[in-house]
Amino acid sequence: MPANFTPSAQVFWLNIPPDIRERLLGNVYCTQCRKMTTITDYTGRIEQGDLILDGVCSRCGSAVSRLIEGDAY
Ligand SMILES: [Zn+2]
Repeated sequence: MPANFTPSAQVFWLNIPPDIRERLLGNVYCTQCRKMTTITDYTGRIEQGDLILDGVCSRCGSAVSRLIEGDAY
């Protein structure tokens, strides 16, 4: 169970197959590194039906976020 997720965000997240979740976490764009990175120390919440992950870049520590569309999975 992911920490720091709202209850509805947990339901959304756990509905996504584990291999897809791994890919989503490792495929986040960092505007500081200017390339794809892995998001760490993330929180999750639902906004207008989409899941928003807010965390930090595993490479440089800058804030990064990822939106996963509500109808994607
Ligand atoms: Zn970075």
